[in-house]
Formats: sequence, structure tokens, C-alpha cells
Amino acid sequence: MGTLLIDENIAKAKAAVVEAKKVEAAANAMLQRAYCKVLADLGFDPATIVIPGTWDCEESPLATCAYHFYEDPCRDKCVFCEAPEERR
Ligand SMILES: [Zn+2]
Repeated sequence: MGTLLIDENIAKAKAAVVEAKKVEAAANAMLQRAYCKVLADLGFDPATIVIPGTWDCEESPLATCAYHFYEDPCRDKCVFCEAPEERR
């Protein structure tokens, strides 16, 4: 058995996955900063708000439901539409 060579297409695909993850991480960081700014502008302390991203929220300027981290640890009531995170 000689040295195992990694297939060129697999190497390229893996590099593409690594690159895509970097782009995703940067986009998520941008999204978090945008959430923080909107929350702060609305008078919320962004550090006390959880944004699971599970549900679209028509009443939220974030376009997704958000919950008070301390006052509502079970995420029973979105601060915008009052819907719980857990829905069936
Ligand atoms: Zn909501």
C-alpha cells in the first residue's frame, strides 16, 4: 500500500464546505448585530432577549419570535406576538 491520496474532487468539495461555513458564520454574526440594534432601538436590552429563530413572526420587526431570557425562560410568550416557542 502506497500513500493514500485524497481524491481531488473530495478535496475541492471539502474546501468549498469550509469556505461556505465561514460565509455562514459571517452572515449569522451580521444577523445577530442587526437583531441587537433593532432590539436596542425598541428599548429592549438585547442581552436579555433570546431569539431561537424557530418561528417566523408577523408582529416582530425581527421577522422571528423573541423571548425574555430571564422573565420567560420556558419561552411561553413571544415579546411581539405572545406565541410560545413550542407549537404543534
Ligand atoms: Zn412572535
